[in-house]
Amino acid sequence: MQQHILVTGGAGYIGAHACKALARAGFVPVAFDNLSTGWAEAVKFGPFVQGDLMDSAALDAAFSRYRPVAVVHFAALSLVGESMKDPGRYWRTNVNGSLNLVEAAVKAGCLNLVFSSTCATYGDQDGVLLDEETPQHPINAYGASKKAIEEIIKNFGAAYGLNHVIFRYFNVAGADPEAEVGEQHRPETHLIPLMLDAIAGRRPALTVFGQDYPTPDGTCVRDYVHVMDLVDAHVKGLEWLLVGRGNRVFNLGSGQGFSVRQVLDASRVVTNREVPIVMGARREGDAASLVSGSVRARDELGWAPKRSTLPVMIADALAWSQKPGFSR
Ligand code: UDP
Repeated sequence: MQQHILVTGGAGYIGAHACKALARAGFVPVAFDNLSTGWAEAVKFGPFVQGDLMDSAALDAAFSRYRPVAVVHFAALSLVGESMKDPGRYWRTNVNGSLNLVEAAVKAGCLNLVFSSTCATYGDQDGVLLDEETPQHPINAYGASKKAIEEIIKNFGAAYGLNHVIFRYFNVAGADPEAEVGEQHRPETHLIPLMLDAIAGRRPALTVFGQDYPTPDGTCVRDYVHVMDLVDAHVKGLEWLLVGRGNRVFNLGSGQGFSVRQVLDASRVVTNREVPIVMGARREGDAASLVSGSVRARDELGWAPKRSTLPVMIADALAWSQKPGFSR
C-alpha cells in the first residue's frame, strides 16, 4: 500500500516539483490547491483536490478521503513586495489558512507535517550568515506571517503531538530538468525568470531594485537554491518524520550569496545575451543580504544539493521557458 501525502499548494511552482519528487520516492502526492496562483496542468503526479485552506469542510473531506500519513504544506502567498502593500491579506491567507490546516490534520489524526517557511523570517541581520538559531526578526509581512505559522505549528506539536519539520528556504530557482514542471507565476515577480523574460524580449528590461545596499556592489545578496534540491530535502524531511525522528528546523540554502549584479552576469554567460536593465528604487521589505550559514540539513538529513549553482539554475529555468507552448 502506497502512503498518501497531502501537498497543499501542489499545483504551484515548488509544490508541483515536490509532487514529482514524492511520486518518485514511492508516495502518492495528493495536491490540494485553490488554483489562485497554481496551475491545474502542473498536477501530474497524483490526485488533485481543488480546495481552499479557508474551507475546513474541504480539508476534512480531503483527509477522510485520502487518509494521508503526512502533510507537506506549501500553499501560501509568498511575495515580499505584495505583502508590504496588502499585509491583511497575507496574515489572513497564510496564518488563518495554516491554522485551519493543522486543526484539520490533528482532527483527522494525521500528525506529521513538513512546513515551508522562509529565510524572510530572519529579517535584516547585517549580512551575517544565518543559521537555525539566529533570532527571527522579520521585516516584511510575508516573513512575519510565516514566523507566526511556525509558532502555531510548535504549539500544536506541544499540545497534540503534531510532529513537524520546518524548512526555511532561501531563494528557490531553476526548474525540473525534464521540463515536466517549471516556474510559472502570474504576474512573474522573481529575479531569474524576469531576467530571462528581458533577454527574450518578453519584457523591455529588468528593473534592479536598489543599488545602495550595504553589500559589495550595492545590490541585494541572496542565496539561491535549485528547486530540485529543495524538494529532495522535503522527501528527506518527510522520511525523517515517518521514522519518528522528531521535530526539527532546517535552513535550505546553498550557503553562498550572490548579488543581483552577479546573477545578471551569470545570466549573460549562460544565454550569451545582454540583459537589458534599468536601475530602480529599493523594493519595500527587502533585506540587504540573506545567506544561509547552516550545514544542519546536510549533516542530519544527508541532504546533498546537486544543481544549486547559478549556471545550472539559470540554464534549467531557460530550458523550461523555451518549452513549446510556454507563455508568460
Ligand atoms: N529583484 C530585482 N528586480 C526584480 C525582481 C527582484 O532587483 O524585478 C531583486 C530583489 O530585490 C531581491 C532579489 O532580486 O533582492 C530576489 O528577489 P525575488 O523576488 O526573486 O525573491 P525574494 O528575495 O523576494 O524571495
